[in-house]
Amino acid sequence: MTPADSLNHAEEIINRTQLSAIVIGWHQQHGRHNLPWQLQQDPYHVLVSEIMLQQTQVATVIPYFERWLSKLPKVSDLADASEDEVMALWQGLGYYSRARNLHRAAREVCASYNGKIPDTPAELRAIPGIGPYTAGAITAFAFDKPAAIVDGNVARLFCRLFGIAEPLTAAATKNLLWALADYYTPESDNRIYAQGLLDLGATVCKPRTPDCQICPLQPQCVAYQTNRTTDLPLKKPRATLPNREADFLLSITDRGILLEQRPAKGIWPRLYCLPEIIGNPANSAMLHGEFKHTFSHYKLLARVWSVSDIETGSDYPTVDSRRIALEELVNYGLPAPIAAYLQTCLPTHLQNAGNET
Ligand code: SF4
Repeated sequence: MTPADSLNHAEEIINRTQLSAIVIGWHQQHGRHNLPWQLQQDPYHVLVSEIMLQQTQVATVIPYFERWLSKLPKVSDLADASEDEVMALWQGLGYYSRARNLHRAAREVCASYNGKIPDTPAELRAIPGIGPYTAGAITAFAFDKPAAIVDGNVARLFCRLFGIAEPLTAAATKNLLWALADYYTPESDNRIYAQGLLDLGATVCKPRTPDCQICPLQPQCVAYQTNRTTDLPLKKPRATLPNREADFLLSITDRGILLEQRPAKGIWPRLYCLPEIIGNPANSAMLHGEFKHTFSHYKLLARVWSVSDIETGSDYPTVDSRRIALEELVNYGLPAPIAAYLQTCLPTHLQNAGNET
């Protein structure tokens, strides 16, 4: 089917006016209206919230969003902040590349746009760190202009509504979903329409158990009519991830905890971490505990070793390590699994750990 055929076929299922009218009408009655980033249609608020919401649930994001704005209320405050400040504010949200993207985007907005976030998807996408979804979301939510958005919620809803039985990861499927999103974007009221689509996907057309009985699109929905609501979108077979092991050093004295900044490449780039032990732990080391963490490409079993004689000469390289006073720990960006582990032994110094989704 050519792209034009696909749009004609979609139009037969539901036409443009119908879809936007249904989604807008539903959102006015049932959608979410009081999320903190909806209260003021400030493009900086939308930028921060949309990047936080990638891979993280709304309920987790809300306190982070509020804390972020209390410390960095304007895009210029973020542009002027140090990387350590940004990472510390992000600590516990996980997927730290998002924080770096947000930081880069703010610096570019200040350097090239005089601190004013642009209002077209094309200009927004030229800013490093802003992808097609975030560009569409800022255009729609902050400026109420027409712009397509496709996130996981919209992709799932469209696959079911239009009966798309192709893998979501295929480039052709992604192109088709964006073409549909573009085609159905209304010329006016896109703020409400876009928010309605996201809310409908998140709260009604849910991944495992869609609430078709209360869905306003049920009469048109191909998946519902053909009894394929749980089959669509097509699921990718789960890959078996390889296992890896790593050893970390835990050394806490009255001068603080020993941490090292991770290299720019590899896992947890530039975050502060317990020093990784390369080779075998020394004989004097005692196993303090273990934790597991699943990355996208492998599963990690981490062992944490404590040593008491680290300051009097030991076998451990500590070139990039430094001692950090425990009360300063909240000012450092730690990987979420390390923060969660430390929370078990230093609960009063790490209150935001362990929220990674
Ligand atoms: Fe999703 Fe069911 Fe609505 Fe179809 S009818 S869009 S499957 S909630």
